[in-house]
Amino acid sequence: MREQRYSEEELLRVLRTVFGFEHFRPGQLEIIRAVLAGEDVLAVLPTGSGKSLCYQLPALLLPGMALVISPLIALMEDQVRALQQRNIPASCLHSGLQERLLTERLQASLHGRYKLLYVSPERLQQESFRQRLRACTVSFVAVDEAHCISEWGHDFRPAYRNIAPVLRLLGNPTVVALTATATPEVQRDILEQLQLRSPRVVVQGFDRPNLRWEVEQGKRKLERLVAFCQRPSSGAVLVYAASRRRVEQICQFLHQRGVPVAMYHAGLEPEIRHRVQHRFLANEVPVLVATSAFGLGIDKPDIRAVIHYDPPLTLEAYYQEAGRAGRDGHESRCLLLYDPEDCAVQQQLLASSHPAWETVERVYSAVREMAAGSTFLGMTATELANRLRMPEAVVEAVLRLLEGTGVVQTALPGGELVLQVVATREELREYWMRASAGRRRVVEALVRTLGAEAWREPVIVPVAELVYRHGLSAEELDSGLRALAYAGLLRCEAARLCPGIVLQQPLPVRPPLSPEALEQRRRWAWRKFALVREYAETDECKVLFLLRYFHDSSRTEPCGRCSSCLRQTPSGLVQRLSSAVRRKLRPVPRQGADARRQKVVELAHRGMAFSAICQETGLPATTVARLLQEALESGQRLPRQALLPDEHFYAAVRIAVERLGNVPLRDIAAALGGVPDYALLRLAVAFARQEVATYGRSSAG
Ligand code: ADP
Ligand code: MG
Repeated sequence: MREQRYSEEELLRVLRTVFGFEHFRPGQLEIIRAVLAGEDVLAVLPTGSGKSLCYQLPALLLPGMALVISPLIALMEDQVRALQQRNIPASCLHSGLQERLLTERLQASLHGRYKLLYVSPERLQQESFRQRLRACTVSFVAVDEAHCISEWGHDFRPAYRNIAPVLRLLGNPTVVALTATATPEVQRDILEQLQLRSPRVVVQGFDRPNLRWEVEQGKRKLERLVAFCQRPSSGAVLVYAASRRRVEQICQFLHQRGVPVAMYHAGLEPEIRHRVQHRFLANEVPVLVATSAFGLGIDKPDIRAVIHYDPPLTLEAYYQEAGRAGRDGHESRCLLLYDPEDCAVQQQLLASSHPAWETVERVYSAVREMAAGSTFLGMTATELANRLRMPEAVVEAVLRLLEGTGVVQTALPGGELVLQVVATREELREYWMRASAGRRRVVEALVRTLGAEAWREPVIVPVAELVYRHGLSAEELDSGLRALAYAGLLRCEAARLCPGIVLQQPLPVRPPLSPEALEQRRRWAWRKFALVREYAETDECKVLFLLRYFHDSSRTEPCGRCSSCLRQTPSGLVQRLSSAVRRKLRPVPRQGADARRQKVVELAHRGMAFSAICQETGLPATTVARLLQEALESGQRLPRQALLPDEHFYAAVRIAVERLGNVPLRDIAAALGGVPDYALLRLAVAFARQEVATYGRSSAG
């Protein structure tokens, strides 16, 4: 039925005229064409590579409205705003919307007014919503950040697991799932959960040949940074540090040494942040020191170096931030300054971002009590933290966790404003003429929203209405209103907008999380950070290390110019070679190895747990694992349940073994995002290999 074919030229024309981009980025065209042809797609593209365009562009061309499932309100709103600026009719529905706006937008959807409708997965769970959605003409469904489907990922969102019934309800439309996470178990989960039909899997490489990856180990990081920034030809340099305080310190230090520098973090006033960003983008200041708050949605093509003063918490974050260098394809550097003894900040961050179960319960019940059945709690995380006498970072972490379950939303400006216009329309128009673009939009939003009575008496306006209807950010609105009040044109009772916490109703009595899930997240997080340190410390080619982490096997040769490759002095090479040779040689069995193996195997057959066998035999875990591995490799059968009771772990290992084949253990460990225990991994891999050899690969492999 949708056999209309588009040529590459036609698609390029849309790209240029509607989106203003010259060329498709790698992967985009293939995905767009598949969606247009009605094929299901799983797209795995690095962050920042332009996944949104892959559904936005086909949405324009296909009849009906594309349904985009997206996890974060802030992301949805950014995208809707950007689309509206391009005159593409789009809207979003999430759990923070008031009933009236929701109804209006649904009505508009029914009448086919939108080309794209963004919804949160929680919204999809509502039966009444599903029924109304069924009456809309849906061109296809895009599942953005699709890794949220998978329990194996750290961004798991339970509501994401219930998308398949909605697809059936909509008559099985085409589905495109998009993610930057490429681990096999996550991919498999996505395919299974969404029941994609012979999907086209598009995996785009993470290799960026114009980037040079470097790690400098050692102390005196400030001095090294200064030396780097003082080099005449450095171009624009972006420096990331782990906390606001460190950003301030570094900035001050560079400034004292005569480096022209600015800083950016979330603690600064919005106007200042805006100005700093603008100066950096316009090359008015060459060096910017920032926290990770800087960068999302920023497209500066000519950043020549991204320097990390502190290691980030995950390689995903590192790749994303460092990858902001060299967007224009020119030679650029990604430098990590690494002092192994200097990871205290990260460890603190990890600890505070993974609060204990009791803390989660405490914050949750406090929020629940204070809200007393209302859908809005006019309190920021900071205020809440003060009230509870808890560190702000911890309260924020709890709110983020809860946000992940969909019961609370914090990104929303909420509440109501009491406004009265004390100027004539003429005066407002004059103000508008002289105002900046941002201020103009505030005036326009007011004029369109406020009825005539606002010129006579104070009226109540929900903040959400101004913000969402007119695509303003809360900050823009806030500063715009204050400017108008200052100019004497407006009386505004709430001088500051209150961002707050929006609560789902009815709010469950207990937080919809489990202590086990929390613990698992914590373990993942530490493992991920351990891999960042491994990246910093490895002598392996940095590019190969990163690519393997992201499951990109497009390159097998070392890059020849990262800091590891350049450090390959002759003696280093000899060392690497000899260890490679050593690995190849089979160890000569020591005396008594057979007897020990027999003993271990016998204990295993008695159903003893792995740790119990170690204890009983007095052998180290690595040896026990190796002996059991030998037994399995020689074709013996062993009872797996007792030795490897963690089914999740074993399942993950088995998938990795199927996918990767006969690779070293460390590759499998990397595929799993790190493992706590190599002995158990060795054992699990041996079992998995035996199983695959006996029964073949499992169906979905
Ligand atoms: P992702 O979702 O993959 O992380 P986004 O969709 O947010 O990435 O896109 C990242 C940036 O790339 C955005 O600023 C977007 O406008 C820009 N972009 C997308 N496609 C193109 C293109 N073909 N040419 C230039 N810029 C693009
Ligand atoms: Mg995206």
